[in-house]
Amino acid sequence: MNNADFQARWPQLASQTTLDTQAQQGQSARTGDLTPVVGKSGGFRKTVSFVLVCIVYYGTELFCRRNFNLKTDPLGKTTGQMVGAARSAKQNIVEGSARAGTSRETELRLYDVAKGSLEELAGDYEDFLIVRGELPWSEKDPRARKVRAIDFDAFEAHDDLRHNFAAHLMQMRAKFAPATENENPCIAANAMLVVIDRACALLRRQIDRIGENFRENGGFTEHLTKVRLESREAKAAEAADSPKCPKCGGPMRKQMARKGANAGNPFWSCAAYPNCNGTRPWDWH
Ligand SMILES: [Zn+2]
Repeated sequence: MNNADFQARWPQLASQTTLDTQAQQGQSARTGDLTPVVGKSGGFRKTVSFVLVCIVYYGTELFCRRNFNLKTDPLGKTTGQMVGAARSAKQNIVEGSARAGTSRETELRLYDVAKGSLEELAGDYEDFLIVRGELPWSEKDPRARKVRAIDFDAFEAHDDLRHNFAAHLMQMRAKFAPATENENPCIAANAMLVVIDRACALLRRQIDRIGENFRENGGFTEHLTKVRLESREAKAAEAADSPKCPKCGGPMRKQMARKGANAGNPFWSCAAYPNCNGTRPWDWH
């Protein structure tokens, strides 16, 4: 493979990001990766995984436009599959994040679908290389290491979210572009594989974290059940203290009188009402 193009572009990238220093600091460069998705819904823009998936999506669209034509992909099938998989990953993160507030199960499932789409896309890039007699880069390849070490600027949500996030995204995309949007398709495909791996690893961590949180606190459905059980237990406790109905001997319930001289005051009413109309005064012992 002719890497002159690639080599020529890297110094420019390296001067922007001081890659080696950041690679040494590994941990601190990666702290941005840990921004949790759990909790509020719609926080996807803050996650590095979402930015990576956007870079994959825009890059894949460009990659297909450059490398497939009417001869190599006459029906547009490969293009459709690759761009479709990248878009699916992006959309499922957006949707999963939107559902985070109401259904952890759905959020979890959608992130898993996003990860699956990325893995499918990785398969297409691998095929692209293998068909051309190129080996995918080894993990130890210095070029792979450089793409892995590209750091992320933190994105703080402020007002004007759409505008500011797009600006942030374009900046991040420009950092990866010398590799992921390289005109040499084998370099671009390899760089894309590294970025996809990175996004998948982050998604896996998010899925694990949500899963752990789910085990500890339960999902939304479990939460509702818990609330319901508590209220039922409270009612049962009240029933245990309640007097027996003078008519049928069953438990009685606290009721508020709606009319008559007693309106607005509590009294005991048979729990079997309306089948039994037994009552007792509230201060009955
Ligand atoms: Zn009764």
